[in-house]
Amino acid sequence: MQLLDRRTFLALTAGSAAAALARPAQAGLAEAQVFTADPFGGVVDSTVILGDDAAVLIDAQFTLPNATRLADVIAATGKRLETIFITHYHPDHHLGLAAIMDRFPDAQPVAHPAIQPKIAGGAQAMLDNMRAGQPDNFATRVVIPEALSSDAILLEGERIEVLEPMHGDTDLISAVHIPALDTLVASDFAYTGTHAWVAENTTPDKIDMWRASLSKLEAIGAGTIVPGHRSADAMNDASAFAATRAYLDQWEAALAETSTADDLRAAMMQGNEGLGLGFALDRAIGAVYPG
Ligand SMILES: [Zn+2]
Repeated sequence: MQLLDRRTFLALTAGSAAAALARPAQAGLAEAQVFTADPFGGVVDSTVILGDDAAVLIDAQFTLPNATRLADVIAATGKRLETIFITHYHPDHHLGLAAIMDRFPDAQPVAHPAIQPKIAGGAQAMLDNMRAGQPDNFATRVVIPEALSSDAILLEGERIEVLEPMHGDTDLISAVHIPALDTLVASDFAYTGTHAWVAENTTPDKIDMWRASLSKLEAIGAGTIVPGHRSADAMNDASAFAATRAYLDQWEAALAETSTADDLRAAMMQGNEGLGLGFALDRAIGAVYPG
């Protein structure tokens, strides 16, 4: 693992974080770099996988400023962006796609065929909703990825494996495994140093489905784990699974033991005072206690 000089990337990305994560033990792919949005962009991770000449991007950011900074990071690699894979339909992972495509018009945006229709069906309404409140912070159009026709993306002959969608913070998410880099892009199955988006997981059966997905992903045994969202000091390793499990355990217990929104919030803040993505907790409490 090699971490790039932090000041270099802070200067490059104007407040966002990007770091080189993994270098392979043998020839194959050059490395993976992770770009993390600023807090306004939801500290969402995008992963840039680099070959000798070409690159693949996993997830395309949320706000226009963060997508623009991600495009700068990709441009700085000097690689040709070939493919952009979107892991799931939540807007923080793809509303920045138009800004990426403006800079790399030859790139092909794709999603798993089970997820592509969800993106196609919801993206415009999501963008309209965001632009109604913050017109300058979002792209002016949506780009809908095409359905991927294979279970892998090839980058210079190396397989980037698109895993079958499973239940995470929403019903269908495709994680991505890059064997040549010993790296798993876990997307929104895993959160580190932030509240998790549990608004769609308010019952024990759903929470159990999420836990089962974590077990399957952890069993892959990848050395480098990229969570969907992170704090600035988060590690890129399997501790992301334990952190997410602990948050789900606390959430399930808090749901069972409280009966008001205030008590649920107090139970979830216990020990979590420093976590980012506070709006995720607000929305989760709102899902349990509407109005
Ligand atoms: Zn997300």
